[in-house]
Amino acid sequence: MTTAEPTTEPEPESAVETARRQLERAAAHLDVDDGVVERLRYPTDVYRVTVPLERDDGTTEMFTGYRAHHDSVRGPYKGGLRYHPGVTEDECVGLSMWMTWKCAVMDLPFGGAKGGVIVDPKELSRDEKERLTRRFAEELRPVIGPMKDIPAPDMGTDPQTMAWFMDSYSMQVGETTPGVVTGKPPVIGGSKGREKAPGRSVGIVTREALDYYDREIEDTTVAVQGFGSVGANAARYLDERGATIVAVSDVDGAIYDPDGFDTNDVEDHDETPGMVSTYDAPEKLTNAELLELDVDVLIPAAVGNVLTAENARNVQADMIVEGANGPTTSAADQVFEDQGVAVIPDILANAGGVTVSYFEWLQDINRRAWSLERVHEELETEMLRAWESVRGEYDARDVTWRDATYLVALSRISEAHDARGLWP
Ligand code: NAD
Repeated sequence: MTTAEPTTEPEPESAVETARRQLERAAAHLDVDDGVVERLRYPTDVYRVTVPLERDDGTTEMFTGYRAHHDSVRGPYKGGLRYHPGVTEDECVGLSMWMTWKCAVMDLPFGGAKGGVIVDPKELSRDEKERLTRRFAEELRPVIGPMKDIPAPDMGTDPQTMAWFMDSYSMQVGETTPGVVTGKPPVIGGSKGREKAPGRSVGIVTREALDYYDREIEDTTVAVQGFGSVGANAARYLDERGATIVAVSDVDGAIYDPDGFDTNDVEDHDETPGMVSTYDAPEKLTNAELLELDVDVLIPAAVGNVLTAENARNVQADMIVEGANGPTTSAADQVFEDQGVAVIPDILANAGGVTVSYFEWLQDINRRAWSLERVHEELETEMLRAWESVRGEYDARDVTWRDATYLVALSRISEAHDARGLWP
């Protein structure tokens, strides 16, 4: 009896499953105490709060919010707060674990956290969003703080949300405490360069990976899925250094020009929604076609799970640099490993965001703002340090770039657990 090839792959893993699988893969290569690995499979704690909101029409509605803390062995918890109808406790736990790995790869003195409220922010007026944020901040107050847990913006939240959050916390503790959140407007302690940092780090890591494979950036063609904050900033960084950006896209479709686009001429999705797909380009493609273009580098920077068992074999790029979180399913990852496609993982490539959040926290604690030039210089230094560590593991062992990245993270976390021990 023959078994038919599966035509579709199983449901993509949940964030918790992915985080645990990566932990186990990395642990298999390292001499790590089983007890430490077991501890890292679980969050330290997960808070569930109910947030009452007075709607503009005078009625009261209850919303559920979460904050998951994964591991704080290396420092206070750090991670985003999202407002989205799909927020779940499980997702917060999984994403908090990803944040632990991301902070450790970057050697930042933070552990992982994630939280959110189950709400569609598009259905809230500005006043309702402010009231919801202030009450959520108050409900979380016992478990957050500049030395405990420092939230940041994520899907559905922005610098203004962080400003309300910081103000509410400060009012209740009786002192202005900018270091309680990052991603604030610069006028109240936000860092210059924060918004562009994840895209910039994708650009820096792509540049270094090209250099590793002896590729000249000037001879490199790049396709970017999702010309939003991460995608547009990565594309512009690489364009400025001589790469040819042949394709970019937004949710409505892709544009293609084999001679390359002037990426400053194409407005990103945030600047004018829909502008990418309506841009006057030689050729229009679908998002699916963009992923399969014959380019040197593919940067998926839109949403998760776009590279799957269905399309991985059709991907012609030699290198994939993950701008979005989780764009590659584990089945696709296996295909790329078999075919020798280098996949530089999200927790390294887009870690510029949390790194500049760390700079913001330092600026807040020291009450001294950095110039944009300093932010750029320090981000470059931190990204290169992380890249060197990952490259060291990649060269030393027969592993993928993703495994090498998790090895760096797990080594640092497990060494810290060993040094501190298990109390009591
Ligand atoms: P964004 O909203 O600024 O841009 C997203 C872009 O993707 C837009 O151009 C949008 O039109 C496009 N898009 C949306 N859905 C799509 C789909 N189904 N197919 C193709 N294109 C689609 O978002 P962003 O901040 O750039 O985030 C993009 C990804 O990067 C997300 O996975 C996010 O979690 C991750 N990320 C963002 C940051 C950050 O600080 N902005 C940091 C780390 C990781």
